Amino acid sequence: MTKIEDYAAIVGQGTIDELFTLARSLEGKTVQNINSTAVGGGVAEILSQMIPLLKQLGVEARWDVIKGNEKFYSVTKKFHNALHGVPVKIDDGELEYFIEMNRRNAAEMEFADIVYVHDPQPIVLIEKRKEIGRNWLWRCHIDFSKPDAFVWKFLEQYVNQYDAAVFSAPSFARRLSIPQVLISPSIDPLSDKNRELDEATINAVFERFGIDRTRPIVTQISRFDYLKDPLGVIRAYKIAKKRVDVQLVLAGGGATDDPEGPIIMEQVRQEADKDKDIFVLFLPPSSDIEINALQRGSTIVLQKSLKEGFGLTVSEALWKGRPTIAGAVGGIPLQIAHRYSGILTHSIEGTAHWIKQLVNEPEYANKLGVHGREHIRNNFLITRHIKDYLLLFVSLFHKDDLVYL
Ligand code: UDP
Repeated sequence: MTKIEDYAAIVGQGTIDELFTLARSLEGKTVQNINSTAVGGGVAEILSQMIPLLKQLGVEARWDVIKGNEKFYSVTKKFHNALHGVPVKIDDGELEYFIEMNRRNAAEMEFADIVYVHDPQPIVLIEKRKEIGRNWLWRCHIDFSKPDAFVWKFLEQYVNQYDAAVFSAPSFARRLSIPQVLISPSIDPLSDKNRELDEATINAVFERFGIDRTRPIVTQISRFDYLKDPLGVIRAYKIAKKRVDVQLVLAGGGATDDPEGPIIMEQVRQEADKDKDIFVLFLPPSSDIEINALQRGSTIVLQKSLKEGFGLTVSEALWKGRPTIAGAVGGIPLQIAHRYSGILTHSIEGTAHWIKQLVNEPEYANKLGVHGREHIRNNFLITRHIKDYLLLFVSLFHKDDLVYL
């Protein structure tokens, strides 16, 4: 297990000392995180890294996952899509079922001093507050720039009952009756997904998947989700391929709360249409070393999302110094300054253009990677994230002293 002290080599001892000091202010308080999946996707990724570190700092931290089923996840996936601006139909029965499932979970759960609820799936747990009090935070990890009005109106009544709402990027802030806090997510530089790997390990992974490391490789690691635009990635690759010799890797798995994965993956396989240079890889949970190696060994990393909460895969690739091309959506522009620490694109054609450009100009591409790594070191590592969370938790016990602008 990683020790909190190990991060001093990357971010400096002063940062670690500061975390211990802040953590002491929470003595005797328990922090409970609640979300809807233990594996798959960015939220589970962050919680699995953060909880052990909070414990080492002396914070009583817990993580609970609400129980769901196919019907519940199909409603929550509709919410997810609607909040990202995709038109969906949700009827009253589905809303009632969503509320009912939250109430069943609330009835079975023990709640801590600080209840930190992640995303819309468990949002109705806040009803419990009338009965038990406590401090409640709602953490929104998704792109909220243009949410569907109907779904937002439904959720808003719950959001406004929390003590504060936390968003990942300034563009997601909403008009709310509660304070809003901006906290970007982060990556763990010492986890299996991000730590240094030797060349032999990287080679072994590429060999296992039959990918030729002597030729340029363009990779996107993502859940198979329409909003990650895997079909757009293949189209961009096909345009670029007319000019440069590249291979394409689309690798990802599913999340237990995302029922659409297999359908999208099938569409991706059809679009790939037996092209020997396209590798569509299904990654089971706990493929961290494989993901690390695929990112490290790629010539270019793509994240061509159409909508994005934050886009952890972008930080992951930049931290590894990889030239990264990503959609200019959600939290991605916080991570990439266009043509300085990566490339931001808005279309399939733009993505294809930059694939060609970076394959042809490896020196420029590598410079983007070097700048990207420093940007991530300064802004998006887990130590900065823990500090922001600790400050937020501490502030809950000093509400009267706070001035919200
Ligand atoms: N990821 C993974 N396995 C996969 C696909 C993605 O472990 O098959 C990880 C990926 O490396 C990243 C996270 O899941 O750490 C995805 O977070 P991101 O913010 O990019 O997107 P989300 O899935 O939360 O929309």
